[in-house]
Amino acid sequence: MNWSEFARWGARISDWAANYHGGLRDKPVRAQTAPGSIAAALPATPPESGTDMEAIFSDFETLVMPGMTHWQHPRFFAYFPANAAPPSMLAEFLVTTLAAQCMLWQTSPAATEVETVMADWLRQALGLPDSFQGVIQDSASSATLAAVLVMRERALNWTGNTAGLSGQKLLRIYCSGEVHTSIDRAIWISGIGSDNLVRIPTKGPLRSMDPEALAAAIEADKAAGHVPAGVIACTGGTSTGACDDLKKVLAVARAHGLYSHVDAAWAGSAMICPEFRTLWDGVEDADSIVFNPHKWLGAQFDCSLQFLKDPDSLVRTLAIRPEFLKTHGADGIINYSEWSVPLGRRFRALKIWFLIRSYGLEGLRQRIRNHVAWSCALAERLREDGRFEIVTEPVLSLFTFRRKGWDDDAHIAFVNAINDDGRIYLTQTHTGGRIAVRFQAGQFDATREDVETAGAVISEFAGAS
Ligand SMILES: *Cc1c(COP(=O)(O)O)cnc(C)c1O
Repeated sequence: MNWSEFARWGARISDWAANYHGGLRDKPVRAQTAPGSIAAALPATPPESGTDMEAIFSDFETLVMPGMTHWQHPRFFAYFPANAAPPSMLAEFLVTTLAAQCMLWQTSPAATEVETVMADWLRQALGLPDSFQGVIQDSASSATLAAVLVMRERALNWTGNTAGLSGQKLLRIYCSGEVHTSIDRAIWISGIGSDNLVRIPTKGPLRSMDPEALAAAIEADKAAGHVPAGVIACTGGTSTGACDDLKKVLAVARAHGLYSHVDAAWAGSAMICPEFRTLWDGVEDADSIVFNPHKWLGAQFDCSLQFLKDPDSLVRTLAIRPEFLKTHGADGIINYSEWSVPLGRRFRALKIWFLIRSYGLEGLRQRIRNHVAWSCALAERLREDGRFEIVTEPVLSLFTFRRKGWDDDAHIAFVNAINDDGRIYLTQTHTGGRIAVRFQAGQFDATREDVETAGAVISEFAGAS
């Protein structure tokens, strides 16, 4: 392909993209394909000679598109959103074009410096104190892994990377049962081992880990000769939006000298609205915080912000060339690859810049406030309809419910039937030992009518009382 052909196709694809978004409400949200059908339609061997773009694009439309679940569909109410606001897509187009490797300041000075400023814009937007510095990671999973590696190195007096874990005392990390599975994986990968991830019981309406039980577990581990290394708290747990009482939990972590990490991957975006910040009251005491602008804020996937109180401990854990340790940042030069597990990095900050400038914080806040209000209204509608019970009250825009009198199998069949219908997309979760249906609103283009349609579909599939 030459560059003039590229220009023609670029224009055609951007038209296609605008039409795609405009027509999403007419498509079923979840792909309606049988497993294996797409793979079977693709040639089993790669072509020896080239094909023109017309044929490639036509196959994209006929083979790929029917097999997509539409994450940008305004009636996507499953999981959490992974938004792609149009200005952030345009930024990604530019980033794809530049295709720069942004591992060191000198390999992309603008990428580094825009990242530093965007991380600080987001810090301010979330109301975090200026004692935090931010870095963009590819995912919350990576940020959490980085935080767990710091916990490990700090607890081992910075010898884990060299000596390994064999022969060491057991390192212990504490969290509730409400945290995301990325925490389990970080514990596996760091070599700490899931037997040493101590699950603290939860209490209260927001299912916070019990701070007294946390203190008791830390003390018991110390008495047993183990080494407590860190606490992982959540604001907006994956299943039902659980929020740890950060004031109390982080106070326990500090009292025992433990490193703390707060996973707010989904709920963090809502903290641009001051009225929601009570959910993470006390967060300023954390050592590390992660949130995903690629979820609710609208930055195209992937874009995860990690805020750190002491970036030195992260750099000490991850930098291959520790001589940078003494100067990083001081001379205006930051090599962000020393702040993350992967060496290579994309220019992710550009989409934050485009996004925030295009909507302004007030435009982004309004969307989140709407999603929360519409979702709470739906929870009320279901509560008033005698057939349903609200299992967990809305945390921001996430709540769970059940159809009275139905068992787990009936709920799974209910969710499947709704998703086969295609007007909306929902998922289920496990809470309190049983299945509940999970609802969250957060798609960037969702309207009040879309959420009301969800209410109508839920009601239709729930059967007579
Ligand atoms: C989505 C989510 C994650 C995982 O995020 P990735 O960026 O996909 O790794 C972790 N924790 C919570 C609470 C989440 O909602």
